[in-house]
Amino acid sequence: MQIAPTLTEELKRRDQQSVWHPFTPLADSHKIIPLTGASGCYLHTADGRKILDAIGSWWVNLHGHAHPYMAEKLAEQALTLEHVIFAGFTHEPAITLAERLLAILPAGMSKIFYSDNGSTSTEVALKMAFQYWHNQGIEKRRIVALDGAYHGDTFGAMAVGERGAFTAAFHRFLFEVDFLDFPHPHLSAKHILDSFEKLASSSEIAAFIYEPLVQGAAGMRMYEATVLNDLLTIAKKHHILCIADEVMTGFGRTGSLFASDHCSIKPDIICLSKGLTGGALPLGVTACTEAVMKPYRSENLLKTFFHGHSFTANPLACTAANASLDLLLTSECQNSIHMIMETHAQFKEKIATHPTVLNVRQQGVILAIEIRTNAATSYFNEVRNSLYDYFLEKNLLLRPLGNVIYLLPAYCITSEELQWIYQEIEQLLELMLEEK
Ligand SMILES: *Cc1c(COP(=O)(O)O)cnc(C)c1O
Repeated sequence: MQIAPTLTEELKRRDQQSVWHPFTPLADSHKIIPLTGASGCYLHTADGRKILDAIGSWWVNLHGHAHPYMAEKLAEQALTLEHVIFAGFTHEPAITLAERLLAILPAGMSKIFYSDNGSTSTEVALKMAFQYWHNQGIEKRRIVALDGAYHGDTFGAMAVGERGAFTAAFHRFLFEVDFLDFPHPHLSAKHILDSFEKLASSSEIAAFIYEPLVQGAAGMRMYEATVLNDLLTIAKKHHILCIADEVMTGFGRTGSLFASDHCSIKPDIICLSKGLTGGALPLGVTACTEAVMKPYRSENLLKTFFHGHSFTANPLACTAANASLDLLLTSECQNSIHMIMETHAQFKEKIATHPTVLNVRQQGVILAIEIRTNAATSYFNEVRNSLYDYFLEKNLLLRPLGNVIYLLPAYCITSEELQWIYQEIEQLLELMLEEK
């Protein structure tokens, strides 16, 4: 039985020699865990452990890992058409996926533009919005975003995101953006609405971009649909294009298919990725209304949207998305989503008054627990590393955002597995209380 540990050591050594990991200090590269596979909600490590993935592998996985139905559809497609240039050509998986998305997205979306990840889906949305005005001979230079926003790691996406420690090296290269205060549920929204109204009446605003209801990277911060509706009402009044970044919130995460479903005012552009393919392959979608496209409908070739990626609408990725939709729309999956929501709600109730809990909040299948520590709530709160290690030792993958522990599981998680995660969290809360 010497083989398994040897494999782990060997993979770690080779990884450290050749691979640079995302969002990982190089000094921590020895902590990387080699996997040999995964199934359902479990990651299989090279040394024989099974780790319960409670965060859907960075918010992407909807139906569990290595799903047989997804694998079968992908294998079929791989033997049919694996990839083709998408300028001048089309294929069934992309057409079918566009039709199906338009049928379930909030009313009014009329076209699907493909790219290949979440950051590109927001880059495309921003370029689409700027050129929408440019094609009409109107120059609008400014974008409004929410404080704490995260829209991806490429330059345009960074520009409309929170200016923080992650982006400090690039601040002077980012275009100017007007940030509105985050509409915390316990604060009055009036001053935020007033400042938006003031900015909006300058007629310099091309678009308003937002993560509807939940800001993921900011620490699963949640806000009310009513405030968002009021913001969208102001935007519409001033003809500002509304860009809903549903990269994280899409495909059931907030309890309905899309977070925008919770609002009566609908966006003009919607960005999708992450759960789009059930988490199996990279794919991005930017959906827009006919009104957004209108200035592009021209005999003038210069009004074309000159944007594309080599892997735009990759047939395998589109096939994964179609297969994921098949699974997502079954009553079995919808029931699971409701089970997770109800189970979360009970646990939330149970720990709400725990002295170690600063705040516990839920939206759909997302449950976030803000731990009380001596330092302020932030990604760099030092409790983060010890929490991550603590849970991993228990074969549980939770990846706290600073002092915010959150659950964002695949929909195939069972109520027993959820209860086990809750128990581990409660035990930790008790331990932290004793240490005080
Ligand atoms: C993850 C995320 C992105 C970026 O997606 P990538 O695929 O990681 O580039 C953009 N917006 C939101 C809301 C996200 O959560």
